[in-house]
Amino acid sequence: MAEKILVVGGGGREHAIVDALVRGGADIYAVMKNRNPGIARLAKDLLLIKETEVAKVVRYAQDRSIDLVVIGPEAPLEAGLSDALRNEGIGVVGPSKKAARMETDKGFARSLLAKHAVPGNLRFGVFADHASAVKFAKEADFPLAVKPIGLTGGKGVKVEGEQLADKKETLAYVKDIFDHSIGGVGVVLEEKIVGEEFTLQAFVDGGRVIPMPLVQDHKRAFEGDLGPNTGGMGSYSLQDHLLPFVRKEDLAKAMESMNRTVEALRKEECAYQGVLYGQFMLTANGPRIIEFNARFGDPEAMNVLPLLDSNFVEICHGIADGDLSSSKVSFAKLATVCKYVVPAGYGLEPKANLPIEVDEEAVAKAGAKVFYAAVNEERGRILTSSSRAVGIVGIASDLERAEANCERALKHVRGEAIYVRHDIGRKEMIERKVERMRAIRG
Ligand code: AMP
Repeated sequence: MAEKILVVGGGGREHAIVDALVRGGADIYAVMKNRNPGIARLAKDLLLIKETEVAKVVRYAQDRSIDLVVIGPEAPLEAGLSDALRNEGIGVVGPSKKAARMETDKGFARSLLAKHAVPGNLRFGVFADHASAVKFAKEADFPLAVKPIGLTGGKGVKVEGEQLADKKETLAYVKDIFDHSIGGVGVVLEEKIVGEEFTLQAFVDGGRVIPMPLVQDHKRAFEGDLGPNTGGMGSYSLQDHLLPFVRKEDLAKAMESMNRTVEALRKEECAYQGVLYGQFMLTANGPRIIEFNARFGDPEAMNVLPLLDSNFVEICHGIADGDLSSSKVSFAKLATVCKYVVPAGYGLEPKANLPIEVDEEAVAKAGAKVFYAAVNEERGRILTSSSRAVGIVGIASDLERAEANCERALKHVRGEAIYVRHDIGRKEMIERKVERMRAIRG
């Protein structure tokens, strides 16, 4: 009998997770807030509730005799869902609430890295009160990145010289964070670094760290990496699983940071079992840690999971059982380009609740995959929301072909007020990044 796996979350990332689990032979059950049509179609059964309603999710898993739960987003981790499920003897892919602080508490994360001398950490300070944050900001003789301590949906970080014009604006934003409790209970002020960002995701069983192909995400809303930060507009990966500006030795250093982080968490008695997402900035001094997330990235999950050659169900068991030693993990040597179709105005004033149509057969014929994200299926129609709508992932033997497949497929997504960053994965964009990195390395 097929195994019953419950997937928590209803975005593009979770659609990609479900797709990979179905390929691995699982029967899918799903919990999500909005009805994601892609997941709904692949699932045996659905429960439409908020993913943070811990008791209800646990009861649903018990009622359906679920074998294993895969938690997609960070909010249910912070709400303690993984602990509640483990307490009931149900296997989970997703770290404990304590271990998930790597994402949910930026102060904890930086302090842990410092305590265990994990390479790639930055100069930083963690502040629970306004006055001490102001003192640090005024005395720092280096430019700062300002980060609310808690979750802000990826939109709370502001950096001097970018969103913050000068020290005056930095101090105003710090005040804002305390006055309005943005992201909870305080602020992390850290050294601003300069370089190209990349994502390294890994399967982690508490001790072992098994990497996935590198991905580069594009957070800015508009072409040319301009405009406000978003959840991510699209991403690409290469057939050699590196990036055009990342060398093997850079990857080795980033892996060292990941391994040492997982070891540190184990020593602190909150062993990490789940997917660990490392966001790095490649600088003149090698890769430095921007942040960790306690889950797959969205869009990055859509780049790597379609390439997984081995059985994702087995890997999930390895993670949940705390033993990945016998799990085979291999990814196809292909390139991917993901472009998110978003509502027009996304990042500023999105136009929501408009119909969007995808000709899925034509997308598949173009050599691409469709992953539905924050849309809602109502009476046979798919409606946009104020967030990202549909991820289209072109897959091919090299980046140029993957990008072309993605663009061909995008012609089969129709909507009244939609927007796509077409520059993602294009040659000019890649060349710019390689050139920039060359200049930074000197
Ligand atoms: P985060 O929410 O931590 O991923 O930050 C959002 C974006 O802010 C990142 O993708 C970076 O581009 C930028 N950022 C975060 N921390 C720093 C830093 N220390 N120096 C420079 N840029 C940063």
